[in-house]
Amino acid sequence: MDPLRDSWGREIKSVRVSVTDKCNFRCTYCMPAEGLQWLGREEILTFEEIARLVGVLARLGVDEVRLTGGEPLVRRDLPLLVEMLAQTEGVRDLSLTTNGILLDRLAGPLVSAGLRRINVSLDSLNHVRFAEITRRDALDAVLRGLEEAERHPELNPIKVNCVAVKGFTETEVPALADLARRKPYVVRFIEFMPLDADEAWREDDVLTGAEIRAIVEECYGPLLELPAKASSTARRFRFADGVGELGFVNPVSEPFCSNCDRIRVTADGQLRTCLFSRREWDLKAALRGGASDDELIRLIRFAVQHKELKHRINDPGFVRASRSMSQIGG
Ligand code: SAM
Ligand code: SF4
Repeated sequence: MDPLRDSWGREIKSVRVSVTDKCNFRCTYCMPAEGLQWLGREEILTFEEIARLVGVLARLGVDEVRLTGGEPLVRRDLPLLVEMLAQTEGVRDLSLTTNGILLDRLAGPLVSAGLRRINVSLDSLNHVRFAEITRRDALDAVLRGLEEAERHPELNPIKVNCVAVKGFTETEVPALADLARRKPYVVRFIEFMPLDADEAWREDDVLTGAEIRAIVEECYGPLLELPAKASSTARRFRFADGVGELGFVNPVSEPFCSNCDRIRVTADGQLRTCLFSRREWDLKAALRGGASDDELIRLIRFAVQHKELKHRINDPGFVRASRSMSQIGG
């Protein structure tokens, strides 16, 4: 089968599948304190629908699948879905992004189901600061989740994601970087993007990867750059003395759109070709309307033909995405 390619020549190899829009955190850079209007149960794709879609995408060469949300671990019986996807022909790389609060209970079942990679979000190692940014007093639970993940060597690598917000993250950087010196984790700093539901993002709120790197090097000496895959969103570094790795994901200061190989499926079955898309493609209606695999493939190819060249965060007159991060599936 011909590979899935957009009209700019980029081959699509990776899909992020949101399994729920709900979340048990209220991170300030993502959700309002009062939460959002959640989707109804009927609106959300079933595991069978997700597995069918992933199977069709895998036939098109999309071999990397990441489950996300909202908070994916609040979706009931998630290990069942992981098992279904791990057994799907053509799925080479199955991973999950989580806030980690339920991970101490679920790491074992997820690994048994076939999960091999995990990203845990962690914005501070200080209890007060953690509660300030997530609006939940849950640091200990997340750290227990990480420890439990570490007990499963099958989960490799363990990545820790921190959203870098100016005026907040600077003080958290030394401890988070030190985590990557002490532990075999890949700690990644991700620039804050205008995807917060509160629409409070301003350009000045972005703490860039370069600024964070300077803070780290001030504390721990020069970092050594590691080679990264062409499609990688992160620049990778290691310490002269340390077991883990640091990564900088710089979508605002160093956009990587020209290498983007990714599409997204929202919890309610809408295909998005960019985080910043204003347009969605209704896969759920096709699935529930009895579309054949060939019809789904035609719709997916057509949508991908319209994949945006790049995000326009830095352009004058930038228009925000039609939904916020937790509703899209980050
Ligand atoms: N709830 C899970 C979590 O927090 O890991 C998965 C979903 S969350 C939307 C996925 C990722 O998006 C997380 O690493 C989160 O920190 C990141 N994120 C959320 N809002 C963001 C924003 N406005 N800019 C950059 N990254 C953001
Ligand atoms: Fe929830 Fe993740 Fe958004 Fe935080 S970033 S509110 S954990 S979906």
